[in-house]
Amino acid sequence: MTSTVATDAPTADGDGGGSGHDAYRAPVDDVLAALDVAGLDDLLALPDFSHVERDAVALVLAEFGRLAAEVIAPTDRVGDRVGARFDRGTGRVTTPEAFHVAYRHYVDGGWGALPFPEDLGGGGFPSVVALALQELFASANLALSLNPVLTQGAIHALAQWGSPAQQAMYLPRLLTGAWSGTMNLTEPDAGSDLGEIRTLAEPDGDGTWRLTGTKIFITWGEHDLTDNVVHLVLARTPGAAAGTRGLSLFVVPKRLVTTEGVLGEANAVSCVHVERKLGIHGSPTCVMAFDGAVGELVGPLHGGMRAMFTMMNAARLSIGAQGPAVAERAFQHALAYAGERLQGRAAGVAPPARSPIVDHPDVRRMLLVMRTRAQAARSLLFLAATHVDRARHDPDPDRRERSQQLADLLTPVAKAWSTDSGLEAASLGVQVLGGAGYLEEAGMAQRLRDGRVAPIYEGTNGIQALDLVTRKLPRDGGRSVHELLADVWDFVARPVADDDPLAETLEVLASVLGVLEPTTEWVLARLATAPEDAVAGATAYLELLGTALGGWLLARRARLALDGDGLDAARAVAESNFFATEVLARATGLARPVTAGAARVAVLLEGGAA
Ligand SMILES: Cc1cc2nc3c(=O)[nH]c(=O)nc-3n(C[C@H](O)[C@H](O)[C@H](O)COP(=O)(O)OP(=O)(O)OC[C@H]3O[C@@H](n4cnc5c(N)ncnc54)[C@H](O)[C@@H]3O)c2cc1C
Repeated sequence: MTSTVATDAPTADGDGGGSGHDAYRAPVDDVLAALDVAGLDDLLALPDFSHVERDAVALVLAEFGRLAAEVIAPTDRVGDRVGARFDRGTGRVTTPEAFHVAYRHYVDGGWGALPFPEDLGGGGFPSVVALALQELFASANLALSLNPVLTQGAIHALAQWGSPAQQAMYLPRLLTGAWSGTMNLTEPDAGSDLGEIRTLAEPDGDGTWRLTGTKIFITWGEHDLTDNVVHLVLARTPGAAAGTRGLSLFVVPKRLVTTEGVLGEANAVSCVHVERKLGIHGSPTCVMAFDGAVGELVGPLHGGMRAMFTMMNAARLSIGAQGPAVAERAFQHALAYAGERLQGRAAGVAPPARSPIVDHPDVRRMLLVMRTRAQAARSLLFLAATHVDRARHDPDPDRRERSQQLADLLTPVAKAWSTDSGLEAASLGVQVLGGAGYLEEAGMAQRLRDGRVAPIYEGTNGIQALDLVTRKLPRDGGRSVHELLADVWDFVARPVADDDPLAETLEVLASVLGVLEPTTEWVLARLATAPEDAVAGATAYLELLGTALGGWLLARRARLALDGDGLDAARAVAESNFFATEVLARATGLARPVTAGAARVAVLLEGGAA
């Protein structure tokens, strides 16, 4: 198997991937190792995946990795510098020519269809494999990768909730990528608070609906990569209840389509503005005006939130994958730079020799934080996605239900912890490069700018923490989280030899669990008596749980490597022990902010700071 593919050194004129240090190679072996940790073999043993071999997964990763490194990554810089361009007169959005070439390769390769059922024209692969490809795509070009991410989310929603006619109309074209999808939730008054959505959908008398309103921040809402754009829109019907209970989901194509699938006239939906923003310049973020646009109801009337959650849950993991994507790309760049930049002398080096900065312990520390966070984040995401797959495909209904609960619990943790890790890694990447990192020319600044959005969209990380603490944790009386922690205890307590190379990791993991368990009990108890206290510590609790799970998954990866699955065992063990002492050990301190209660934040206004 080809494990990695390096790109040529990119050109400096903006058409390549930045300086030569910024070249991307797909970390296929690491991705496969994370899939193994998440339980790929058990997943492929399910009857629905009997046609998928582990070797086929490895081949798919290697092939897509080659596309990501050789074709997609070189379009990243031009996307940042030129970006998506808006013509106010026509309302059209144009993307760089390089994007067209890369997108065409993606469509021609049939990559978008990979995780969907074969009867829909898909490849029948588990969705966790598609998530792995999304990470590679996002590393190569985060802005462009958002287009297929949203298309895949729209496919999930239509495949589950669409009528047979809607499925026949839209799914084949979305699966190939001939058309793209969007998600229209946000409005000026409705960001985190979707209950404030005002876009109105009125019945047209012929079974269709007319939508009127403004949606903002719509990713790839208008563009020139595909002939049609399929908008999935949350709107309120006349007389519907206030809040999210009154919302329904509609499909609104940019261009109307005949029943034979022929593209007709333009629908009354248009892009009226494209935002200027900190990063992902190649991804058009659109203000969309619906002026009586023709739409069809998807799923039941007033069942919009449930239907949209199908799309949002898939998208949350996809956005989560931007965490390891950004961390990995920043790590590769920083490592290459650190090997060449000469400053000072490492211990034992005599003048006039000078040392590459990679020989300084503090630089190694930063690089290892970046690398281990990337690997822990991808393992956490894959674990969540594996449970999504199991919840759909396990023949045993009890196991399906348990996996669904674990997927629900893990999704907000994976989204938030992974994207925070990506951002920290990008910031460390700038630090490793020193002053050069702060200059646009080096390309590392783009990682930080692009990566900054992931903790914001698809539900801010603060909202993920709220979702975890107020909904996912107590939903089954805490059963899911207790079972998950019991799995981690099992791992920690499993008897090993005295000279176990993972002894350090296990010791730290045990001390973090010793803090996490009573902290979890505190949160569950306080939710019933003083929920404002539990809510005030939600972000710290998510960080504590995410870090503990990250440490556990890195340790499991090391254990698999020691058991001889082909990974470099010494490296996996060293990385697990490094993460345990540098990152995991600090997590024990998080119990205090989790349990400090709401009074500590009340001080902001009481103290007169406002
Ligand atoms: C580049 C980009 C692309 C996007 N793409 C899309 C898209 O394709 N489709 C789409 O529909 N939307 C999209 N969004 C919108 C995005 O999902 C929202 O920006 C996000 O959900 C936050 O909403 P808001 O911006 O209104 O912030 P607000 O909701 O105003 O939040 C501001 C701050 O307050 C916090 N906060 C809000 N409510 C609470 C609460 N109840 N408790 C605690 N803290 C709270 C938030 O965590 C945040 O820190 C995109 C946004 C960006 C920046």
